[in-house]
Amino acid sequence: MLEVKNISKSFDSLRVLKDISFNVEVGEVVAIIGPSGSGKSTLLRCINQLEKADGGEINVDGVNMFHTENGKAAYAPSKTLRDIRLKIGLVFQNFNLFPHFSVNQNIMEAPLHVLKQPKAEAKANCEELLKKMGLETKGKSYPCELSGGQQQRVSIARALALKPQILFFDEPTSALDPELTGEILKVIKELAKEKMTMVIVTHEMAFARDVANHVIFMDDGYIVEEGTPEEVFGQTQNERTKQFLQRFN
Ligand code: ADP
Ligand code: MG
Repeated sequence: MLEVKNISKSFDSLRVLKDISFNVEVGEVVAIIGPSGSGKSTLLRCINQLEKADGGEINVDGVNMFHTENGKAAYAPSKTLRDIRLKIGLVFQNFNLFPHFSVNQNIMEAPLHVLKQPKAEAKANCEELLKKMGLETKGKSYPCELSGGQQQRVSIARALALKPQILFFDEPTSALDPELTGEILKVIKELAKEKMTMVIVTHEMAFARDVANHVIFMDDGYIVEEGTPEEVFGQTQNERTKQFLQRFN
């Protein structure tokens, strides 16, 4: 579903991503863990076309997003980039809902105006998603009237409304009070059961261990270690991984 090869990215002289490579198979859940500042968000932003990588190659569902030519990233034509963007959903740490739109409007905006879905179809999908998220009574509410956990469930519904083939989460529970974290993790677990392909940046180690098929540990712009949850959490021999995981014990 996703091939990331030798991605590099700098902000001026700061090298943030250094030769990052990994694959995500259809139906797989990949957890990315690592200290703050290690490049996790930048990696997700490069894959989601919110940042431009300096070099490397990314393929989504077998389609090339960019590759390196003469030492520079050469991007696919804008039509291809748009098609790729529609296959990818991203859920942010801070929800990023449109504050002046109701819940329904937030969820239906892209289906109506990007996918050009008929209104009845967009509305029916929206209602189904709200039900799935346990928010069937909140369609007419505004984001400011909802708890953080509810807002995050709306933003997951909004991402799902575009029927993405792969869904990325960037620390989806970091902005939430601890008692609201569980409801989001439960929703993500449900999606994993339905075989949604997902890449999740998280500091919830027990959750990552439980839900992921594959774990990637990033530090200082590198993938330091990757493997099954058992390999990374259970029996790592890597000193940097050990040191990082100790903080959570
Ligand atoms: P993480 O998500 O793992 O905490 P980030 O990808 O947000 O890490 O950041 C990695 C490094 O890149 C940090 O040193 C951060 O300060 C820097 N960085 C991130 N975004 C920008 C930007 N837009 N401009 C300059 N530096 C940035
Ligand atoms: Mg981050």
